[in-house]
Amino acid sequence: MSIIQPARGTHDYYGDKINLYNRIRSIISKIAKIYDFKEIQTPIFELSNLFKKPLGENSDVILKEMYTFEDKNETMLSLRPEFTTPIIRAAISNNLISNLPLKLFSFGPTFRRERPQKGRYRQFNQINFEIFGTHDPYSDVELINLADKFLKEIFSINKLIEQNITLEINSLGDIHTIQKYKENLTTYYEKYKFDLSEDSVKKIKLNPLRILDSKKEIDNKINLGAPKIKNFYSKESHQAFDKVQSYLNNENISYKINNNLVRGLDYYCHTVFEYKTSNLGTQDTLIGGGRYDGLIKNIGGPDVPGVGWAGGVERILLMLKNLKENKAIVELIILDDESKEYGTKILSSLRNKNVSTKYSYNKNIKKILKRASNENINFVIIVGENELNNKTFVLKDLKKEKQEIIKIAELDEIIKNERFKSEN
Ligand code: AMP
Repeated sequence: MSIIQPARGTHDYYGDKINLYNRIRSIISKIAKIYDFKEIQTPIFELSNLFKKPLGENSDVILKEMYTFEDKNETMLSLRPEFTTPIIRAAISNNLISNLPLKLFSFGPTFRRERPQKGRYRQFNQINFEIFGTHDPYSDVELINLADKFLKEIFSINKLIEQNITLEINSLGDIHTIQKYKENLTTYYEKYKFDLSEDSVKKIKLNPLRILDSKKEIDNKINLGAPKIKNFYSKESHQAFDKVQSYLNNENISYKINNNLVRGLDYYCHTVFEYKTSNLGTQDTLIGGGRYDGLIKNIGGPDVPGVGWAGGVERILLMLKNLKENKAIVELIILDDESKEYGTKILSSLRNKNVSTKYSYNKNIKKILKRASNENINFVIIVGENELNNKTFVLKDLKKEKQEIIKIAELDEIIKNERFKSEN
């Protein structure tokens, strides 16, 4: 592989992509504040052992996807494949868990050695929200509500996309439910071990839950007859799931119950949920999360419950790909050297009023107008000899395809219009 290529499954961020990335980042910070979450940043690598038990020794992440290396003193280190475990580790290390409930969020790169394809990369960024220390099913809904607000805000620039996102929920019940359910599933799948896909056969004993969300048609036919988790719920599990649904209804959040939704990692129990889209092909989960009541204890902390979600920034970026950012709101064209000082004063006035303005060093109007409209610029201001003499400027509205001559004295009034304000 050429050294001027990025490593497989990794990307450079620049132009529209970095702008959108920053916009997602700032929306997340804003929403975190509204929902009372505090930011935490953990190191990009951790001791490898941190991940093994919590994620499940037989999970795909542990078996084949972690980037693990040996440090000089023979310590094994791994690039973080997810955030929940490191955030719990950090909360324990820094004794943040003494003050519960604790609401934390994080944003940054994660690493998995998966086969790259659209929406699946080896370095990708995750958004992560966690609540430690409460069994209250409302905390599950608080997190879903936050995710809902985030998606609505990020996609408000294109309502069509928003309509292709659905929230699916399920409950895995408590630990006893999962245990009993797994045993029943194993017995069921044993009967089909010659029919299931090769991948799924390997999971019959080790991780039968994962066969349920297989993407292979042959497995899915067999899944239709598989035992259903809801028949294994304890009374408490039933009640908790009913509460979650009634809180969601109360908040007018639409959802679909998918009894086959199990999530990839071993630590989940009770509520699990995913925001899926029909816009991205097989890598269709934008956000996934759920409850993990035994995990904090498992990592070495007190026996307190937890719930959280992780969202993939790159998948959201893919959904936004066709949207052009408003790079600048106004582009200023000065037609000749005589009007240059007059024109550059207008430029400075606009910038002093925080209007994002591009200055054309080029004078070919036809070319400029074509490019400006491709770049989604709202207005072009043109000045030349006439405008200099009459103390005016030409204001061309590229969206409405209209132009008018404006007196310079009216500039301040004109830019009070909403469409002169930057979105980001
Ligand atoms: P997970 O920790 O597997 O539940 O992933 C949480 C979210 O991260 C998913 O819903 C995706 O949006 C995103 N994600 C997971 N794996 C990848 C990947 N390899 N490349 C890009 N995004 C990913």
